[in-house]
Amino acid sequence: MATQRILDFLATRRPSGPCLVVDLDVVRDNFRAFEKALPDSKIYYAVKANPAPEILRLLAAMGSSFDTASVAEVEMAMDAGAPADRISFGNTIKKERDIARAYQLGIRLFAVDCVEEVEKIARVAPGARVFCRVLTDGEGAEWPLSRKFGCVPAMAVDVLRHAKGLGLDAYGVSFHVGSQQTDLTAWDRALADAKKVFATLAEEGIVLKMVNMGGGFPTRYLRDVPAAQAYGQAIFSALRKHFGNALPETIIEPGRGMVGNAGVIKSEVVLISKKADNDNVRWVFLDIGKFGGLAETMDEAIRYPLVTRHDGSETAPCVLAGPTCDSADGMYEKTPYPLPLSLTIGDEVLIEGTGAYTTTYSAVAFNGFEPLRSYVI
Ligand SMILES: *Cc1c(COP(=O)(O)O)cnc(C)c1O
Repeated sequence: MATQRILDFLATRRPSGPCLVVDLDVVRDNFRAFEKALPDSKIYYAVKANPAPEILRLLAAMGSSFDTASVAEVEMAMDAGAPADRISFGNTIKKERDIARAYQLGIRLFAVDCVEEVEKIARVAPGARVFCRVLTDGEGAEWPLSRKFGCVPAMAVDVLRHAKGLGLDAYGVSFHVGSQQTDLTAWDRALADAKKVFATLAEEGIVLKMVNMGGGFPTRYLRDVPAAQAYGQAIFSALRKHFGNALPETIIEPGRGMVGNAGVIKSEVVLISKKADNDNVRWVFLDIGKFGGLAETMDEAIRYPLVTRHDGSETAPCVLAGPTCDSADGMYEKTPYPLPLSLTIGDEVLIEGTGAYTTTYSAVAFNGFEPLRSYVI
């Protein structure tokens, strides 16, 4: 949220135009809270949430590991000081030459969710550790991750058996319960599936060692969310329930939960208008929208807290939209957002909880994938 450091920065630097300000002290506290909540799990920060070098350097120095999705992200983590053995190539969709490059850089931990990907890895990353991602239902998540990643547990068994057959180290199972997951039982359901894969392969003499429990840890937006400690307890009891005393190595990959609440976007009201004299909903246009970093307002999934200098005064419902000439650049329309009646053109609006998944969707190549290059000939 808007910490005193962030408010002081904005007051003294007065940056013009929309910008994100991230308070590293909050990131530091978040990292410590995760360490405390899940002391036996290794933390792999999901770089895509916010790859700012300052954040990566802080986390590398604190001993964090990193979940990356492209060679560019691997290199960012290394530049920040993370050794290769603290970096996982966690994307299940990789070009074979990128796997080869990562292997050359020393990366030995790769995600897969099908035999086709296992074969690529076996060809160019001999002996590497692989973990297979299983599907989850995503229920309870405000930003579910759909069926794009993972396979059913029965197929994960085949995938890992195949990996072993090709000389890879069949290392474990991963899942992601969906981003902004506020249902603490989501990990219990996913761990039950992970355990099935462990048990089936154990019967064949293939002993898996690791469960990668993914991200999903929330940021507080408009509603309260359980604290890291509550997640830790729920996850630990689910681990005990399914694995008993034979607890596997575990990894968590927080993205949003590590940086979301550390950032605030400063924006400005460009226009306030109505579509008809008798409209009771005003349209408020900011100088930032879906294409400037607020992509997670898609389908109004993430509702950010907005702070203005008029807070506390009478409010009325507003449609909130961005400044571009694309009609998709609306943010909150189906469910209008209550904003002070005294809000006026030129007012500053602080958008809180924006430390994750904002710069990556605009200024920075998302997930390390270059922005579209163009050749005009
Ligand atoms: C995006 C991503 C994460 C981070 O998810 P959050 O919900 O932001 O914590 C973790 N792991 C993988 C594989 C991801 O793709």
